[in-house]
Amino acid sequence: MNRSEVLSSLKDNPNISVLIIGGGINGIGTFRDLAFNDVDVLLVERGDFCSGASSASSHMAHGGIRYLENGEFRLVREAVQERNRLIRNAPHIVQPLPTAIPIFKRFSGLLNAPLKFLRMLDKPSERGSLVIKIGLMMYDAFSRTQGRNGAQRVVPKHQFLSRDQSLRKWNQLNPEIVNTAIYYDGAILRPERLAVELILDAEAYNPNAHALNYLTMVGGSEDTIILRDELTDESYDVRPKLVINAAGSWIDSANRKLGLSTRFIGGTKGSHIILKHDELRKAIGDHEFYFENDDGRLVLIYPLFDRVLVGTTDVPIENPDEARCTDEEADYFLHMISRVFPNIKLSRDDIIFRYSGVRPLPHSSAKLTSQISRDHSIEVVSGAWTNLAFPIFSLVGGKWTSFRAFAEQVTDKALAYLKLPRKKDTRALPIGGGHGYPRDPTERKRQIESLSAWTGVTRERLKVLFERYGTRAESVATFMNGGTDFILKTMPDYSRREIAFLIQHEKIYHLDDFVLRRSMLAMLGHLTREMIDELSGVFANTLGWDAEQRAAEVARTLFILEDKHGITL
Ligand SMILES: Cc1cc2nc3c(=O)[nH]c(=O)nc-3n(C[C@H](O)[C@H](O)[C@H](O)COP(=O)(O)OP(=O)(O)OC[C@H]3O[C@@H](n4cnc5c(N)ncnc54)[C@H](O)[C@@H]3O)c2cc1C
Repeated sequence: MNRSEVLSSLKDNPNISVLIIGGGINGIGTFRDLAFNDVDVLLVERGDFCSGASSASSHMAHGGIRYLENGEFRLVREAVQERNRLIRNAPHIVQPLPTAIPIFKRFSGLLNAPLKFLRMLDKPSERGSLVIKIGLMMYDAFSRTQGRNGAQRVVPKHQFLSRDQSLRKWNQLNPEIVNTAIYYDGAILRPERLAVELILDAEAYNPNAHALNYLTMVGGSEDTIILRDELTDESYDVRPKLVINAAGSWIDSANRKLGLSTRFIGGTKGSHIILKHDELRKAIGDHEFYFENDDGRLVLIYPLFDRVLVGTTDVPIENPDEARCTDEEADYFLHMISRVFPNIKLSRDDIIFRYSGVRPLPHSSAKLTSQISRDHSIEVVSGAWTNLAFPIFSLVGGKWTSFRAFAEQVTDKALAYLKLPRKKDTRALPIGGGHGYPRDPTERKRQIESLSAWTGVTRERLKVLFERYGTRAESVATFMNGGTDFILKTMPDYSRREIAFLIQHEKIYHLDDFVLRRSMLAMLGHLTREMIDELSGVFANTLGWDAEQRAAEVARTLFILEDKHGITL
């Protein structure tokens, strides 16, 4: 069913088993698991999918070595296992990421680590080689997975390089280092695409599972919840048996709309910048650099395609809608890079994109944001003190990396409440274009050649499509071949029908959905004013916009780019 069919079927029958509020990765992960267990489920997202914290991540699938220090062993083990699963199930989007920790002190942190572990020390400080070594050994132990032929590794073990070896490998590195440690995590190269592919998989499997963006939960009482369509202003009532509040840092405000006064969330803002700087990009090679400043805050310098992603901060914030990457944060990042690569000259002019989001962390009395647990939990509200006929499960915390495990726990609880059995689990379920993805480059080449032969799309174009969409490239290419297609003038690696396919099949309604989330155009600094104009023409053609609507969409996109991402076109 398309969007309007789903909405009109809700008018006819507002009864559903589960309503999920919020289309970030936690809501979407739960939606997929419930759908694969044959539950009729509706997910509503007030904006585009993954437009909250889930679009503001550091793009890492990681266990979080630092959490070992807070004693969160369960969390790290779970996240490492989930990282491995993501690399296996979505190989077109999640890939092993070699990570280097430049170390400036041999012994610092040796005393701090156990004290922090015992929660006797509030002030974090820089860790030395020995503490990092111990952390990485534990991390390696968690990284071993049990395969059919005994213990297997999805990523290699950590390694220590001496000062000389490090300087030979990265010749721009600060000579004051004493060592570097190298270990592996995962890079989630296009998180927003991964999320949309999870939705499409779920809907393809279960005809009674629907996810709608631009539909806001605006209120409710007794057995009814009211939804407002942001595209038409129309309202819809639904009557769920169970509500899952996955509104991230907006969880408490969503609960307030249902008459509940909760204080589950204590969000912290985190920002990033993306730099176009060939010298820095070359200096880091294919490694992410992950290190601490003097007061123990973590900094990452990350190879994002041909650009460099730098982050992040961790600052308490009351209103998540106000999160922006400030000039002060940008200057802090630039200063941090100079600590590791002191001879590379950088300025604010090298920044091509900024973003900021709010982690939906649990409300906490911890003195430092780094001490707040990054674990996830389900807060249940039901019974006599609400006037609601259904319970509400609020999903607090979580990480991109461990969304599947969190979703599994929520789904188990939901199935138990609905008195339904679990029929399928998602541990080994491929995601989107990860279905049948050939890991071997020779096999990939062969698939591209045969696809080219029967779709008529050139090998060069198919190679790009495969990188973007994995095996979903087949559906894209077949669609492209079904009508007159042409390469776009301002963006020669996209064609008109490729974008029309995404608009028609991937729930795109606004120009910014494509520019900011379904493609990397804005993030990688490729956008130009001419490109926006040409793209708006493709959208107008596909969605039937008149001149006024087209101009309004262009204005909306330009405003968001400037207001949230520091881009003026
Ligand atoms: C700076 C930063 C860096 C991070 N880096 C990493 C990383 O590298 N690796 C990692 O694993 N994790 C990382 N995380 C954590 C991870 O991104 C978040 O934990 C995760 O995205 C939270 O997802 P969510 O679905 O709970 O929330 P969100 O993504 O915020 O989704 C909640 C959604 O609910 C919607 N909503 C709100 N109210 C309503 C309503 N009334 N009706 C309908 N919809 C509503 C919002 O629009 C929003 O889209 C990072 C987080 C941040 C902020």
